[in-house]
Amino acid sequence: MTRNQYKRKLDGKLVGQPAYVTRKPYLLSTLLECAVCSGPVWATKRTGTRAQPRYYYVCTTHRTRGDRLCGNALAAPMERLDAAVLAAMARQVLTPDLVDDVVHRVVELRTAARTHQATARPRLESDLRRTQGELRRYAEAIAISGPLPALLEAIRTREQRRGELEEQIRRHGDSAWADAWQPDELRRKIQARVDDWLGLFTRGQEEQAREMVLRPLLARRIVLTPRVTPAGRFYKFDALLSFDALVTGLIGAGDRRVVTVVPPG
Ligand SMILES: [Zn+2]
Repeated sequence: MTRNQYKRKLDGKLVGQPAYVTRKPYLLSTLLECAVCSGPVWATKRTGTRAQPRYYYVCTTHRTRGDRLCGNALAAPMERLDAAVLAAMARQVLTPDLVDDVVHRVVELRTAARTHQATARPRLESDLRRTQGELRRYAEAIAISGPLPALLEAIRTREQRRGELEEQIRRHGDSAWADAWQPDELRRKIQARVDDWLGLFTRGQEEQAREMVLRPLLARRIVLTPRVTPAGRFYKFDALLSFDALVTGLIGAGDRRVVTVVPPG
């Protein structure tokens, strides 16, 4: 399996026309970055001539310090950007084939760990036998010479080592740990987690969606790139995702693989 199979695209475009929004809290607060200045993009409220407040995501550098420090003046209507990001997550990222990829990768890691175990266990057992032999010899030395401090210290360090080795050997034989890695069981658990997450992509659950799904999955902030074309103004967004959160707590160790999410070429 190559790294490429872990790549997921998250992209979209957003037509830059104002949309009426009253919703709080802001789904993407603290999760957005301006591609022009690398500064944060924050939610802001504007009251129009008809006195209806509208919410936008705007580059903070541009808003507070002007064109000289960041020329990105494009305001993204909050409701439309929120919806576009969630739709891209649902369609392009949290898909059944992602679950398959993650299961495949976890099983691969497990196989590598087993291979390592196969060589590690005999070594641990041989270390344990040697440590036990040393403890016997120090005990005999004390019987002959009395409880000299150097002998007592040598026994103390060997006893500590013996405890560590016994613990490591015990963990290698833990079958509950092995069961948690069964592919079908893993697939079921990961899919259930994905389903729970998709259930949060609805109105009124912005805060849970941000804290339980977006923040754990995003390896860094979503980058917003303003584009002005004859067809209109829009934002491209791209994000780097880490899938640790998909397996955290299920198998005790997250897959550190990071997925690059790129805009269309
Ligand atoms: Zn900026």
